[in-house]
Amino acid sequence: MTGRVVVVGSANVDLAVDVTRVPRAGETVLGDRLRRSPGGKGANQAVAAALAGGADTSFVAALGEDEGADLILVSLGGAGVRTDLVERADAPTGTGFITVAPDGENAIVVAPGANEHVKIGAAQADRIAEADVVLAQLEIPLDVVAAAAAAKRPGARLILNAAPSRELPDSLWEVVDVLVVNEHEAADLAGEPEKLLKRVPAVVVTLGGEGCAVLRRGEEPVRIPGIPVDVVDTTGAGDTFCGVLAAALAHGHDLPDAARRAGTAAALAVTRPGAQAAVPTAAEVAELEG
Ligand code: ATP
Repeated sequence: MTGRVVVVGSANVDLAVDVTRVPRAGETVLGDRLRRSPGGKGANQAVAAALAGGADTSFVAALGEDEGADLILVSLGGAGVRTDLVERADAPTGTGFITVAPDGENAIVVAPGANEHVKIGAAQADRIAEADVVLAQLEIPLDVVAAAAAAKRPGARLILNAAPSRELPDSLWEVVDVLVVNEHEAADLAGEPEKLLKRVPAVVVTLGGEGCAVLRRGEEPVRIPGIPVDVVDTTGAGDTFCGVLAAALAHGHDLPDAARRAGTAAALAVTRPGAQAAVPTAAEVAELEG
């Protein structure tokens, strides 16, 4: 069975520069080579769901009428993501400013631009109604995430990657089936990850090189260890994880299995530079899984 995933989210041009260390507030750090690449949490996750997860993946997003948009569309198309629902807004394509330290740590600022203009129109709602899994993040307006959730069919699941962390209205908490957060986002939202289970039925907390934890209401937590790899660039690790998690759930895997597969894909992604360019193929993920 090929699972159907709709990713609703941001697309950015990433401007990344290698630095000796991520700058502190008020500090200037002299960087190295500038890299320009397609990114944005939504686009990264769509690429991961299609390429590494093997799901039939549609992307709902907004781009500007500029060269950055072309860069993003080429990458999405190359990964096999359906882009017919991506619209053009009267605003520049979103841009991410990224610094990457030698140990792979990064710091990111996003100028949202066209991402503020994502819309769930009739065509987008129709595609969402056919999906097994809808995957959203928080780089787009919250009412768009709510509209996407409202358009899905009963039985389909909404995965919310609550990144970057921001306060959510009760109406949004109520429609989330699986929340994916890293440790910082979990702390921002609830203090302790377990408290999040009061609001949503399932939570996956990603733990960097330590892997992840799967928490479900009324069940013992499942700890999935990280896969030891040589880290080159962790940009997009969380996005690869979310995209593959969505694809694996859409294919019918249970949550711990899906998280295991997502962790394998994300471990491969951190061994390579960039975000979308670092996403492995489904064959590479299968090979590492053994
Ligand atoms: P980012 O913002 O860098 O994309 P994140 O903070 O959202 O990432 P992390 O918890 O750092 O999320 O990483 C997501 C997943 O990627 C982890 O659960 C793990 O499976 C994998 N991963 C991240 N870092 C490493 C690493 N150093 N070695 C192996 N796997 C890793």
